[in-house]
Amino acid sequence: MKLKIYCPVCRINFMYGEEVFVGKQVICPICAARLEIRETEPEIRAERFPMEPEAEISERIETYARLKGYVFNEDKGLVKEGLLQKYRRYGDFYCPCRFDNIPENVCPCLDTRKGEVLREGKCL
Ligand SMILES: [Zn+2]
Repeated sequence: MKLKIYCPVCRINFMYGEEVFVGKQVICPICAARLEIRETEPEIRAERFPMEPEAEISERIETYARLKGYVFNEDKGLVKEGLLQKYRRYGDFYCPCRFDNIPENVCPCLDTRKGEVLREGKCL
């Protein structure tokens, strides 16, 4: 049976084919965020799995790249540092290449999730 899980990071529902239980960790297939199942009744509710910011964003970008078959360019370290600075200043991993600190720009940003890397050959 396929279950629908709402990802609070990319704010989209995804379908999940395995059993869930409270405390189970799942990776969002859309944004690669690590989530933890917090409730299964009356409906499934997942939250971001609590991690240190550096561990969280490192894992998310590595997992996302692996899921999509993307490779990092030489700016990886700079971008990761920029993401951490945005997290410290604004409370989430907003893309350092983008001006607005809005949910659509949380890494991986909406344009990236919609295939910008495939179209352009790179992220902005
Ligand atoms: Zn997600």
